[in-house]
Amino acid sequence: MGGGKSCYIEYKNYTEEIKLFHTIIEKFNSRKNINLSDKISKGMWSARKNGRDLLGNQNKYLETRKESYIQVDIINTIQIFNEWNKTLNTEHNTINVEENKNGFSVKFNNYIISNNPFLSKSIHFLLHKSAYCVGCKVCEANCTTGAIKFVNNTITINNCIHCKKCYEIDSGCLLYHSLRFPSGGGSNMKSINTLSNHAPKSEWLNDLFEK
Ligand code: SF4
Ligand code: SF4
Repeated sequence: MGGGKSCYIEYKNYTEEIKLFHTIIEKFNSRKNINLSDKISKGMWSARKNGRDLLGNQNKYLETRKESYIQVDIINTIQIFNEWNKTLNTEHNTINVEENKNGFSVKFNNYIISNNPFLSKSIHFLLHKSAYCVGCKVCEANCTTGAIKFVNNTITINNCIHCKKCYEIDSGCLLYHSLRFPSGGGSNMKSINTLSNHAPKSEWLNDLFEK
């Protein structure tokens, strides 16, 4: 659905179907200070379709930069980090992790990563996965060796060869990418188009038809 006229036309032609979406928007709306029927009928909700206004969209990733190190505080179980950490080549693994009451905290040396942009990107992607992975299985599908397995949304990684195929998605995790909060506390956010990589990749289809 789009805003304004197209919302009206869709509602007139598919009233019952569209009402189902309205119910969902109403249920998960976190901004109680605005008129919800205006928000829906004028398409205001679609400007925030990335999910910032959804209930439960908690910021689970806080990065603090100091001169000599970067600290990232993550609200999630350390077990998820321990599994995803197997994907980072341990030879270059320069991160310190400490569990705390909210989840865990990760520190890594600013000097080392500032001279190694690839390592910096990998560590950040690893931490995005560790903060937000809900087992959508895109990474499992991307993995060329079958190392990643999700059972009941719990991840296990075995025999990883560090090929980083599971890092070849936006920000390393689609959920992080779509829900991410702007750094610096601003309010501008990307749209749902950030999920564009969620569609099947051409190599997956080629693979399917070749077999
Ligand atoms: S895609 Fe590569 S890096 Fe990721 S889990 Fe599979 S083998 Fe490891
Ligand atoms: S894209 Fe994110 S949520 Fe989906 S499997 Fe990968 S890390 Fe987990």
